[in-house]
Amino acid sequence: MYFLGTDYIISSLIWLLAIFAFVFTVKKLIGKLFYKKESLALFINKLKIYLEKHFPDIKFDFTIIELSKNEQNPELRKYTIADEMIDQFKRIKINTSKYPKTTPKELQWSSYVFNSEPNRGKLPPDWMQRKNALFLREHGKCFRCGTAITMNTLYPKLIIPIADGGKYYLENMIPLCSDCDKLLSESSQKSSYLNIKDVIYDIIEKS
Ligand SMILES: [Zn+2]
Repeated sequence: MYFLGTDYIISSLIWLLAIFAFVFTVKKLIGKLFYKKESLALFINKLKIYLEKHFPDIKFDFTIIELSKNEQNPELRKYTIADEMIDQFKRIKINTSKYPKTTPKELQWSSYVFNSEPNRGKLPPDWMQRKNALFLREHGKCFRCGTAITMNTLYPKLIIPIADGGKYYLENMIPLCSDCDKLLSESSQKSSYLNIKDVIYDIIEKS
């Protein structure tokens, strides 16, 4: 009886230990799973808030969230979603129907017409005034993606380049943000360094 009692206590202790170890492991696994799901949800939430705030005119398609659900690695899934959003940004078509036809006389200034003519590859002397007029005409928004820009982050683009006979008339100019300027510029290599990519990847790292 004495020995049986000891056996009983020892086996009970072993069982208890095993149960504790099991519960602890399961709890840890569940916690990890729960945390990962929460982290993905947090990322998607932050991503949507960022896109809606900075590109209110663009309807991003979020079906990639559902399409990527079989991806087991949550970090990879976040990058899949992020890259699809960045690709959608790259594919935005410029709304050419919104190109201004003319510039009202009251918005012009005395040297406006004279300086609108290209002059041996030099920018017009009233370039800042033109930038300012573009800024005001488009209400401080990028013509392509609609994101808010400042005078310092405004990149004027000529609809018809000077080389193709374009001039510096305001109706031949649109203001762009830095990303859209990169995407529409000749050298496509620059387009891999987009602000939108930096911001979205930063959201991944912080969620
Ligand atoms: Zn833009």
